[in-house]
Amino acid sequence: MTPSDEARVLDAVPTGLFIGGTWRPAAGGATLAVDDPATGKTLVEVADARPEDGMDALAAACAAQASFAAMAPRERGEILRRAYELIMSRVDDLALLMTLEMGKPLAESKGEIAYAAEFFRWFGEEAVRIDGGYAIAPAGTSRFMVLKQPVGVCLLITPWNFPMAMGTRKIGPAIAAGCAMVIKPAAQTPLSMHALAAILVEAGLPDGVLNVVTTSDAGGVMEPLIRDGRARKLSFTGSTGVGKLLLEQASEKVLKTSMELGGNAPFLVFDDADLDKAVDGAMQAKMRNMGEACTAANRFLVHRSVAPAFADRIAERMGALVVGRGTEDGVHVGPLVDAKGRDKVVDLVRDAVDKGAAVKVGAQPGDGPGYFYPPTVLTDVPLAARLSHEEIFGPVAAITVFDDEDEAVAAANDTEFGLVSYLFTENLTRALRVSERLEAGMIGLNTGLVSNPAAPFGGVKQSGLGREGGSVGIDEFLETKYVAIGYDGK
Ligand code: NAP
Repeated sequence: MTPSDEARVLDAVPTGLFIGGTWRPAAGGATLAVDDPATGKTLVEVADARPEDGMDALAAACAAQASFAAMAPRERGEILRRAYELIMSRVDDLALLMTLEMGKPLAESKGEIAYAAEFFRWFGEEAVRIDGGYAIAPAGTSRFMVLKQPVGVCLLITPWNFPMAMGTRKIGPAIAAGCAMVIKPAAQTPLSMHALAAILVEAGLPDGVLNVVTTSDAGGVMEPLIRDGRARKLSFTGSTGVGKLLLEQASEKVLKTSMELGGNAPFLVFDDADLDKAVDGAMQAKMRNMGEACTAANRFLVHRSVAPAFADRIAERMGALVVGRGTEDGVHVGPLVDAKGRDKVVDLVRDAVDKGAAVKVGAQPGDGPGYFYPPTVLTDVPLAARLSHEEIFGPVAAITVFDDEDEAVAAANDTEFGLVSYLFTENLTRALRVSERLEAGMIGLNTGLVSNPAAPFGGVKQSGLGREGGSVGIDEFLETKYVAIGYDGK
């Protein structure tokens, strides 16, 4: 990719707010800067919504709701299918845009875009499978009819780490179910969402069904929409702290909520694991998205007998990764998203080392421009270290040893989070037993990758409520209505 490619994709992306089918400036003309985390320089300015823009977006979604709910499911599905194909036909440009605003290497951006598009393909297929039921009451004197209807207008809030996939995971089922929506992408990475909105227009989405508000005042713009009551659904992906605040706000008008929140994934390697598989899985679970993933392996819990070999092999692989601007050929690891994210990793590593961890590789951030942090492996990490309890959100593998299965499971479950746990063993009985004992919404059994649009993604404990993807993903955007039918057979 050349500088002229960068200029071309930045020039092509809409920079306004998308409300009622029109791109427009924010009230008062305010803008916010989108920066390149590899250089710290501003790429482009986008409209910075004020609360009145948010209310306009809600009104546009409300105006579109009834007619969109009445659109034939097949037609809604075909809009998603066309959008899927448009995304895939433009994967190179969309990947460059994503890398510029978020930092991940181009190959990873392409991977995310394919994953994001798959949600449209999947939910395009689900749109025509919304079912209902008819039954005879137990006493035989009446009949039950059950139908599923769109929940209504939805408010969707997404984070910066997967700027397109976290959007399509919500927009796909909302469209399939027949819901109009307002989406607020993260202020740091709005460009991928803007490009996606333009694609959905091209795919035939009616005006007002999707409204995009980008803002530097997330709370000021979204809280009135949540408290308004006309929207009936709030779907949020982001940190547990913000999720809790939004749950409080949503309680005022009892919105249906889906919460995809933080994680603190344990990665268990037993003495009977296939070490090749475990090392490959560890690299995938740790280094996808530079470690900036809710599914990232946060704590490696490794049996004492295999820990030295596992640590040596991970250190060798991590040490060989090339760090640099994600647009450059051969780069494996891009910058972290901002100075705050990088400084948090620096602090967590320092705290672990102060408490007795040893640095096997990395831990020396450069001082150039951009928010780079080197792939790092720490061994002998005490469970008292902060990074055993907090999301690292960076390329740091923290290894702790265990001696028996009970100890490993207890350590794995010793967290308020419960999104995903990884487990490596070749013993089938142990695999099943430990999978059942781990407190997580998802288990990676001999694999470092769990995300799949056709599978139910989500967490337990403080990692969230509800599931995205799979055959249950659309239910989050549907209400069940039961019609009691008086019937005596005459
Ligand atoms: P965040 O700070 O919670 O932000 C997420 C989104 O919420 C952004 O759009 C943000 O807007 C918005 N927001 C912040 N405060 C708000 C408020 N008061 N009212 C309404 N919206 C508000 O999280 P993040 O740092 O972007 O993302 C990282 C977190 O997301 C991690 O904890 C990660 O584990 C989690 N995550 C979870 C999943 C999952 O599926 N479970 C997937 C990906 C990420 P601004 O951009 O303007 O701050």
